[in-house]
Amino acid sequence: MKPLIARRVTTCYYCKDPIIKGSERLTDSINIKNSNSSTGYFTIKRHFHFRKEEDSQQSCHDMWVVEIFARMPPPIIKSNNPRGRPALNLTVEQRTERRILLKRLHSQVRYYITEGNLDLSKPQYLTEVTLRDVRKATRFRNNIITILEALEIVGGIPEKYEGYLVGEETAA
Ligand SMILES: [Zn+2]
Repeated sequence: MKPLIARRVTTCYYCKDPIIKGSERLTDSINIKNSNSSTGYFTIKRHFHFRKEEDSQQSCHDMWVVEIFARMPPPIIKSNNPRGRPALNLTVEQRTERRILLKRLHSQVRYYITEGNLDLSKPQYLTEVTLRDVRKATRFRNNIITILEALEIVGGIPEKYEGYLVGEETAA
């Protein structure tokens, strides 16, 4: 995400202070699947200060990502037991889509958490966070939220992943 010059005054999603016109601004956007939209998606955009103070090292976006991840429970990867799971009232197409989405979800977790060493459960993550971790966490967050939003429509979000939508505004 590259900072762009703000052409109008907006409010920072993290600190709620105005982002002055002409200052550097970061915009985080997520596409969420929506069959009612002509494009099939709608986009949530949030603006953040790139540097609130002249000498600051972290952007408001960095702070926001770190805080969200600090609140989240680490995902439990092992549990592929279909027994005892409530039967979902879905069509064949929806079941197929759900299976594909779950596969994608697990591969994201494997890639970022297991192989990528992105450990969001360690308390030191908050204090020793590196810019690389923030970027990695941002990518993971955006990917996983897109998948979870799509899963919500086809049978719901798996319980152990519910924490990932905490702090997200539900855009309707
Ligand atoms: Zn801010």
